[in-house]
Amino acid sequence: MNENRSFEDIFSSLQRLAEIREQEEGIFKRNSKTKCFCGRNDLISQQAEEFIDNDELESNQTKEPIYIQKNELTFKFAVCPACNPRIDCKMCEGTGHRILNKVHVYEAEDGETEEHLVEELSPNSCACMHTEHLVNLLNNADIPCKYMDADFINIKDEHLNSIQEKKLADNIQKIHSFCKQIAIKKLENYDKNLKYFVTLFGPVGSGKTLLAISALKMLIIEFGFSGKFVDFQFLLNQLKAEYEQNKSGEVLLNKLRNIDILVIDELGKGRNENEWQLEKLDDLINSRYNARKVTILTTNYLPPLYKYDEKDIPRNPNREISNYWGQEINNGKNQNIPIHESFWNQSLLERLGARMYERIYEVSEFIDFTGLPSFRKHIGKSFLNIYSSNHS
Ligand SMILES: [Zn+2]
Ligand SMILES: [Zn+2]
Repeated sequence: MNENRSFEDIFSSLQRLAEIREQEEGIFKRNSKTKCFCGRNDLISQQAEEFIDNDELESNQTKEPIYIQKNELTFKFAVCPACNPRIDCKMCEGTGHRILNKVHVYEAEDGETEEHLVEELSPNSCACMHTEHLVNLLNNADIPCKYMDADFINIKDEHLNSIQEKKLADNIQKIHSFCKQIAIKKLENYDKNLKYFVTLFGPVGSGKTLLAISALKMLIIEFGFSGKFVDFQFLLNQLKAEYEQNKSGEVLLNKLRNIDILVIDELGKGRNENEWQLEKLDDLINSRYNARKVTILTTNYLPPLYKYDEKDIPRNPNREISNYWGQEINNGKNQNIPIHESFWNQSLLERLGARMYERIYEVSEFIDFTGLPSFRKHIGKSFLNIYSSNHS
């Protein structure tokens, strides 16, 4: 019987065999279950079981299969090995590269034109590389590792009373909609009245940096912007080092001028800057102001019409005082309250000077954190865990 089978028969049965094997391998691949680190697999099975509220404040981290890879010494953002869309991508067969067909038109000797179809490899351009692209942007943003987990929906408020809880929730909503506005309007049309700076002001540890980084991450992950986090004092120190080496600081500053989203944390902190450093800083702010670049500032200095509550100001370190919310605090023993900082009685305007302040004022939304207690004070050493992790 076998001798009677035609060559085509044999060929097609071999092909079927190959297909079956391929399917089995596919099933095997899925069953062998690479561990999911990003929590997406859990989320998908959860969604199948129960209907999840479609809250406006969704987690960035569950939308893209991104997790924080913790090695012994380093923390970095990484694509979840189980959920990486590249693995099952049919467009590029998992390479991430795309082959583009390009038509080259030549003119032949007889004057006729000839068309040649040329295949060109376009590296890492397949749509499935999107997550990897976002991971690169996140890793280039210099987010301090203790804040890498920051996310609008992760922020804890257990230490707050109901008024404070409401204020923090409102602030989260404000900065969240700032980000959406920025992303939508910037991409669509030019809006003359669009505020493209946002200034988060208020006491130490009240969650400003957490929200600033949540915003930065959202703008990177959801909209693909490039971003950078800089600590104000660190930036001044870097500039100082440049100055001492007779360098212009231009390489450093150019990066900060051109990045889509810049976070400057603790603007105004410290008091040791010289004229040259201030000039460079002024130039940076001015350049972002002129170029309508999104800039997120956090600061302990308050705008002129705001004041820290008298009771909060540690004027007499030995006096037992109660803060605005009626809790007894002892500033003499409390290491977290910076007694010698000038922000208690100097405004942001006075600290930055009228020129810089007025520019910021013109294009910035201001979000008020005064009256919110410090995360640090209430949670002490577990400050690093103030946001619950999806993937602990
Ligand atoms: Zn995953
Ligand atoms: Zn692909």
